[in-house]
Amino acid sequence: MAQITNHMPTAELQALDAAHHMHPFTTGDELAAKGARIITRAKGVMLTDSEGNEILDGMGGLWCVNVGYGRDELAEVAARQMRELPYYNTFFMTTHVPAIALSQRLAELAPGDLNHVFFAGSGSEANDTNLRAVRVYWAQKGKPEKQIIISRKNAYHGSTVGAASLGGMTPMHEQGGLPIPGIHHIDQPNWWAEGRDMTPEEFGLARARELEKAIQELGEDKVAAFIAEPIQGAGGVIVPPSTYWPEIQRICDEHEILLIADEVICGFGRTGNWFGSQTVNIRPDIMTIAKGLSSGYAPIAGSIVSDEVASVLGACEFNHGYTYSGHPVAAAVALENLRILDEEGIIDSVATDTGPYLQEKWKSLAEHPLVGEASIVGMMGSIALTPNKETRAKFASDPGTVGYICRERCFANNVIMRHVGDRMIISPPLVISKPEIDLLIERATLSLDECLAQVEKDGLMQAAS
Ligand SMILES: *Cc1c(COP(=O)(O)O)cnc(C)c1O
Repeated sequence: MAQITNHMPTAELQALDAAHHMHPFTTGDELAAKGARIITRAKGVMLTDSEGNEILDGMGGLWCVNVGYGRDELAEVAARQMRELPYYNTFFMTTHVPAIALSQRLAELAPGDLNHVFFAGSGSEANDTNLRAVRVYWAQKGKPEKQIIISRKNAYHGSTVGAASLGGMTPMHEQGGLPIPGIHHIDQPNWWAEGRDMTPEEFGLARARELEKAIQELGEDKVAAFIAEPIQGAGGVIVPPSTYWPEIQRICDEHEILLIADEVICGFGRTGNWFGSQTVNIRPDIMTIAKGLSSGYAPIAGSIVSDEVASVLGACEFNHGYTYSGHPVAAAVALENLRILDEEGIIDSVATDTGPYLQEKWKSLAEHPLVGEASIVGMMGSIALTPNKETRAKFASDPGTVGYICRERCFANNVIMRHVGDRMIISPPLVISKPEIDLLIERATLSLDECLAQVEKDGLMQAAS
């Protein structure tokens, strides 16, 4: 068989892709008809496709390439580790240096007494670990009836059976009989879409208090934990009102439940601190980590748990683990990635330099006629597209129709922004420079202009009744 290379014509590669490769979260037939975009190389914040286009990656891959593409140090560490010890497991009373070093470094970086790491291969797996760990925790403490995990509608916690059940994505729950029992979803703190006549502050409190109400209704003796992203990512970069997290923390303190912060996106500098929990000022018992942990260079994830949780779990055999838990190559790459984030002052820059620069420019997009709110924390941002800013109206067309048009304009203008319904979102590599931020905003604005023209031409600039 002929070797498949970057130098084959795009159409041939697309045909082979369509014939054999099944894509995540994709309608296969639609993609086969259209042809997938083929990314061949990347450096810094720029991708190159098989047609030679240079595309600014406003999404950092999938929210993960925090240190940017093309870092030789990471390639070298991986090669060195592969030669020395490409694999060994951490079951059966064995360990290895990369797992030791990475867990020690994570304990140092994580706030409070989050000092113990259980490794996984992906964020979904780590949340499956959490789901089981909190139930085992309460069983060990003589309260086996504390089983229910409270989560939120429109949360994203991954795609396995457990993680998708924890998540609050309706289209995911509609397939395959989800959610599994024992998961309860409360409403999200999305003021723009759901706040009606309340001020953001009133709304933030009201949504937080749904947690207290749920605990009371389900019974405190039945609830194990509450899980949430400090800032919802895949749900559309929903920045909660300032009143939300302090009230959630109060409720968690006053009731006997564990708080799980899903830091898969917010962690490793995305919000201008090492962890989103520091940005929103909460004290979780467990943090889920993945994505930026290795800047996406190797698949690795984990759960960082408190001294208390670790000591309770440590008294029994936790019958759980993954072949690739603490994979030495991935762990070595993650450790090197943490060194780069730290020594190059990348997170400081998000907090005090390039971050504020991006935030100012991003917020100015709210002046565009198609844009309602523009939200951003650190380097994760969103804009809500709307036919009427004053009433925060939704479009009359199916949700996502206008967002998709905008996404296609972005693609055509060589900038990657994702759409979630009719929100556009960004999460660029944290190393993006000021000139690159200017280019991102320039291409985003052009795409919004073209989208508006198309929406007007198609008669879509109409509010839902
Ligand atoms: C991406 C994501 C996950 C799932 O991680 P995978 O590595 O895709 O399994 C979980 N939680 C959040 C908040 C995420 O953004």
